[in-house]
Amino acid sequence: LQHTQKFVYDFTEGNRDLKDLLGGKGANLAEMTNLGLPVPPGFTITTEACKVYLESGDEPAELRDEVSAHLDALQQTMGKKLGQADDPLLVSVRSGAKFSMPGMMDTVLNIGLSDASVAGLAQQSGDERFAWDSYRRLIQMFGKTVLDVDGELFEEALDDAKAAKKVTVDTDLDAGDLKKLVKQFKKIVKAEAGRDFPQDPREQMDLAIRSVFESWNTDRAKLYRRQERIPGDLGTAVNICSMVFGNLGPDSGTGVAFTRDPASGHQGVYGDYLQNAQGEDVVAGIRNTVPLAELESIDKASYDQLMQIMETLETHYKDLCDIEFTIERGQLWMLQTRVGKRTAGAAFRIATQLVDQGLIDEAEALQRVNGAQLAQLMFPRFDEDAKVEQLGRGIAASPGAAVGKAVFDSYTAIKWSRSGEKVILIRRETNPDDLDGMIAAEGILTSRGGKTSHAAVVARGMGKTCVCGAEDLEVDTKRRRMTAPGGVVIEEGDLVSIDGSTGKVYLGEVPVVPSPVVEYFEGRMHAGADDADELVQAVHRIMAYADRVRRLRVRANADNAEDALRARRFGAQGIGLCRTEHMFLGERREMVERLILADTDDERETALSALLPLQKKDFVELFEAMDGLPVTVRLLDPPLHEFLPDITELSVRVALAESRKDANENDLRLLQAVHKLHEQNPMLGLRGVRLGLVIPGLFAMQVRAIAEAAAERKNAKGDPRAEIMIPLVGTVQELEIVREEADAVIAEVEAATGTDLKLTIGTMIELPRAALTAGQIAEAAQFFSFGTNDLTQTVWGFSRDDVEASFFTAYLEKGIFGVSPFETIDKDGVGSLVRSAVEAGRATRPDLKLGVCGEHGGDPESVHFFHEVGLDYVSCSPFRIPVARLEAGRAAA
Ligand code: ADP
Ligand code: MG
Ligand code: MG
Repeated sequence: LQHTQKFVYDFTEGNRDLKDLLGGKGANLAEMTNLGLPVPPGFTITTEACKVYLESGDEPAELRDEVSAHLDALQQTMGKKLGQADDPLLVSVRSGAKFSMPGMMDTVLNIGLSDASVAGLAQQSGDERFAWDSYRRLIQMFGKTVLDVDGELFEEALDDAKAAKKVTVDTDLDAGDLKKLVKQFKKIVKAEAGRDFPQDPREQMDLAIRSVFESWNTDRAKLYRRQERIPGDLGTAVNICSMVFGNLGPDSGTGVAFTRDPASGHQGVYGDYLQNAQGEDVVAGIRNTVPLAELESIDKASYDQLMQIMETLETHYKDLCDIEFTIERGQLWMLQTRVGKRTAGAAFRIATQLVDQGLIDEAEALQRVNGAQLAQLMFPRFDEDAKVEQLGRGIAASPGAAVGKAVFDSYTAIKWSRSGEKVILIRRETNPDDLDGMIAAEGILTSRGGKTSHAAVVARGMGKTCVCGAEDLEVDTKRRRMTAPGGVVIEEGDLVSIDGSTGKVYLGEVPVVPSPVVEYFEGRMHAGADDADELVQAVHRIMAYADRVRRLRVRANADNAEDALRARRFGAQGIGLCRTEHMFLGERREMVERLILADTDDERETALSALLPLQKKDFVELFEAMDGLPVTVRLLDPPLHEFLPDITELSVRVALAESRKDANENDLRLLQAVHKLHEQNPMLGLRGVRLGLVIPGLFAMQVRAIAEAAAERKNAKGDPRAEIMIPLVGTVQELEIVREEADAVIAEVEAATGTDLKLTIGTMIELPRAALTAGQIAEAAQFFSFGTNDLTQTVWGFSRDDVEASFFTAYLEKGIFGVSPFETIDKDGVGSLVRSAVEAGRATRPDLKLGVCGEHGGDPESVHFFHEVGLDYVSCSPFRIPVARLEAGRAAA
């Protein structure tokens, strides 16, 4: 047999690059061991062993022997045997997958203790209380995690023991109390698990290993993986680590630390320490921890050693690390490290600090931040200096800072917001009926549901602030009130503030301040100025790195000069999408009505020539704002009924007027037109290029307005660079007809104004047929702009306006997709059409300019995809431009 797969690695054998095999925890324990840091000896069972177990329902045959061999070696090193009666070796069994994952099995400490060895431990340590405390912890943890006993039962028994003695903390229980508790815990195990707590130490260990393997497939772990798109077949490793004890008295303890502040990035002493404690006590909040700095006065030698180790780790990992450590009678032990999580602001600061320290280069600095973090830094936020009263905390579901009056139903939300009130819609959870209320509200707060709940998904889609799953807040929609844990009651109409970036909920109106990062992008704050904070300086530097390396250009979707100027300040290199329909609204709507109602060519031409100068003026302003940069103007796209009154309202108006016998001629004609234009599926109906082909003169008027505006700018010594874009093309024939007309108009304007406008004409690729025939379409198009919103809609057959509120939450919860395909491009489906259209288009026309102008243009993951398929630019809303610039840089670095 040539099978030589190794299933167990000693800590001395692994390293940090083996995360696939040893999991994150195991790989880093090995790395620290090999750095010469004090790690309690141990070994790691690989993810491969877990995979075999999950596939076959049994451990691989070799595993038992390999574990035995490594256990023997460990016993040799430690000079004692697992569970040995007079001097037991104890170990912890710890899960550890490649990615840390909720739902995986909790660690079991003190494995090896039994009725036989507890006395030996007491004798060896000279501390009877300690021994019994360790034993009761083992039964508790083992019972809960391995034998599935309800953890509450142990907690209650512990509370009762404390109450009986009239004490409040567990350290006040003495050996006798703990002995009784052990007896009671064993009874609980027997009653609930139907078996005795295992006394054989090896059986304890083997059962714990098995249950770590099995925890890979708990429902919670599976759901988490689907949502985070973590492959389901990675498996988890299991770490067996010899125990060290922080609960051996005041010269012992346990703590957590960061090598620098995860909130600000500053170097210093950050962490918590708890004397005479074990394992999770420090984070469980059962006793008060002390700031890590105080360890210096408690145990100077260990403190100094810890500082030294932290520096070693930071230099070695070249990043912020977080660590878990334990001190056993003055001896320091390292139990875990990993590159630590940090806030968005700290990510930017740390990246530039590390560049300054010479630990990483600029390309690496770009990988240490991301667009989602930048976006978070751009939201307005609550004033940090404001006095606040926090009511509770939920999940930060959609960022932003929102203030408003509490309302508990959608009807009130709509009613109050119509009368000018700002409201926060508070529900237990939302459902599709709440949609109008959510639109009306400043922000949404729910007490149930997670990041994929209806409220979270819809709020993110709308860009609205949302905190969901604030479980400590009791929402009573019937009585229209919410009760906070402290007993504070919020009635309908009371002011509340919610922070969608932290999940915090406050009483009253917390003042909101603009983000300094936006002030910087707007040019109202200079990175070099004295008062610019470190964050702005860091963002400034990172953006410069990104701009230096990126290949993708970034344009803005903007319809007017004001948006265009803002986009320019944010770094836009042109406009990728100017929607002309916005130029047909307001008082111009009447002119559009006239155009639609026109019966004769004369009437139509009159209507069009009234619109022409207005459109031209808009374009002149836009080209001036974007002087020297390309501006892609899309000809009219939406169905015409959008410019007409609502069919129901108009019918009622006409019916009422008729009953009064004073029906207005125009209304009657309008109603006729509305009926005529009414479509079952307007998004698949008369719109886009189809309008240009059906309504004589419409596109010609728009092209003329663009050409005349460009000529005017040119003659004023400007540098207009207009590009004309035809929407919703499905076949090259449509484009050819429109182009012929457009080319004639442009030639006419050029001749009349004595200019050479160099206008280009291209098309959107937003229908599957256009993508599939891109090679043909490129013959008539000088550029393509992928309209990925409509393309997603038509490829999936999803109505963008309806699905988010109806079945998307179910899809997300079932893990059918991890994120809405309208948010992040669906690479396999829509993306593959984009990829093949790029290839076919360039094959026909090598200098074809390629861009994207859907919402995806500002989505981090999608930007990477567009870089990879070789587009020339992405276009997004002005506010997303910095994010797109950063991600384009990260994609290229
Ligand atoms: P998690 O992934 O939840 O942090 P860990 O495996 O790190 O789980 O362990 C939980 C707690 O137990 C941590 O505080 C850890 O430091 C502590 N711990 C784990 N193994 C040992 C050990 N061998 N000796 C002492 N404490 C340990
Ligand atoms: Mg840990
Ligand atoms: Mg479209």
